[in-house]
Amino acid sequence: MIIPEAQVPGKWQIRFIHLARHWSQYMTCDRARVGAVIVRDKRVIASGYGGAPSGSVTCDDEGHAMFNNHCVRTVHAEMNAIAQAARYGPSIDGCDLYCTLMPCWNCAKMIAASGIANVYYLEEYHPEEWDFYKQLYDGLSTKFIRLVDTLEIRQ
Ligand SMILES: [Zn+2]
Ligand SMILES: [Zn+2]
Repeated sequence: MIIPEAQVPGKWQIRFIHLARHWSQYMTCDRARVGAVIVRDKRVIASGYGGAPSGSVTCDDEGHAMFNNHCVRTVHAEMNAIAQAARYGPSIDGCDLYCTLMPCWNCAKMIAASGIANVYYLEEYHPEEWDFYKQLYDGLSTKFIRLVDTLEIRQ
């Protein structure tokens, strides 16, 4: 569900958003720069940034793979963080996920399906499509919480 009021981030939330932003700079598709970390008990247990699946060619190398106005080559940062957990084993049930950008609908579904309890994000994703998507996000058990982009977060 969408939490309507944006939250002012606390000390730990600022740290995790900083980590997500750190990873975002390594994204290999320059149409966006997104990073994500998955947290349990104030510890990062998985992280990711947007890019081609491990071992395949990247947009930076070969150009974008455009279809219907989207670049479809990349695994999104949130999905890569979930994939990292799947590869190495920690359960992410009940965890928090921090992301620089609000998860798209495909990522949101996977986030809910993998048991993530709360998503904290900074920027809205395609707000012009919100009239359609809001009720779908509201139907998920995961809480989606926007963090206010304070001066501390921008440092
Ligand atoms: Zn691309
Ligand atoms: Zn996504």
